[in-house]
Amino acid sequence: MDENIISVRQLTKQYQTEQASGIRNISFDIKRGDIIAVIGESGSGKSTLLKSIFGLLKVDEGEVLFNGKRVLGPHEQLIPGHKEMKIVTQDFSLNIYAKVYDNIASVLSNRDVKSKEEKTVKMMQHLHIDHLRNKKITELSGGEQQRVAIAKALVTDTSVLLLDEPFSQVDALLKNQLRADIKRIAAETGVTVIIVSHDPADGLFLADELLLMKDGQLIQKGQPAYVYNHPEHIYTAQLLGNAVVLKPEDGLKLGLHGKHEGTVVFYPEWVELKGGWNSKRYEVKDVYYKGFYEELLLERNGVTIRAIQLNRGEHKKNDHVQANIGRFLEF
Ligand code: ADP
Ligand code: MG
Repeated sequence: MDENIISVRQLTKQYQTEQASGIRNISFDIKRGDIIAVIGESGSGKSTLLKSIFGLLKVDEGEVLFNGKRVLGPHEQLIPGHKEMKIVTQDFSLNIYAKVYDNIASVLSNRDVKSKEEKTVKMMQHLHIDHLRNKKITELSGGEQQRVAIAKALVTDTSVLLLDEPFSQVDALLKNQLRADIKRIAAETGVTVIIVSHDPADGLFLADELLLMKDGQLIQKGQPAYVYNHPEHIYTAQLLGNAVVLKPEDGLKLGLHGKHEGTVVFYPEWVELKGGWNSKRYEVKDVYYKGFYEELLLERNGVTIRAIQLNRGEHKKNDHVQANIGRFLEF
């Protein structure tokens, strides 16, 4: 079998609107068993891409291959979608008056009742929702409902799970747990997962590969750590890491001489708070408490940057510190 479960080839889908919309000329492959995160600001084409992969949209150009076979569009078959893929959207599409067990079991055939029960129970255990078996969906929290939706999607023979903004309904604590769950379930079941999110934290944490979308185009693809450290666009650095972006003249004011004196971009953690031949004096304008670290707002020659202070309280507002921008990118 081919290593790639999905191949997207020159996919283009424009909606019938005045403005540019949809997605343009997107190509990439997805390896079997990988977790892919598609990250981009709202309106960048993430949902359009996901729906096109699943066969819910009639695309203008290009194609999606699933195990080498073209995925049919909604105009080419009676029931739109692909039987080996499942999509979970923000609304979960659960029967809210039915019990958890019945929601999940309802998608399995009645021909073998014993296997139906076994599969349902096993999937509930996988997602740690077996204790909710007899609860109605209306009695569950958002995060619990989401687990039921994922269990329902995975209980049939699903090879690809498509998740559209899966963490948007849940609080930060539960988010961490759900991310870890998805990673574990993917490892345990071998299912390939495509997660779409505008929140980069979702992708960085769990993905094997990160796909960056902007204005309907795929602008970068790679391993999360690589993309983070080698962003090809300012947008990517801002989206992934809350980067500091300085106009060329401000970069020069800080003594940053790059190859072509362009826009300077760096992450706050690339700023080293230490003395040395290449350090410069900054004034601490403000200190933001961030939990286990602090973010410092530093100013020099009228230019403001941000840095990370791990030793909380070491430098305070109005202090002067020695800092060196150890690494920066130029655009
Ligand atoms: P995302 O999921 O990243 O927020 P979408 O794929 O939903 O982005 O949308 C991409 C672009 O296509 C946006 O500009 C959006 O307004 C437009 N769009 C999405 N769906 C439709 C539609 N049904 N009709 C017209 N324009 C659409
Ligand atoms: Mg969307």
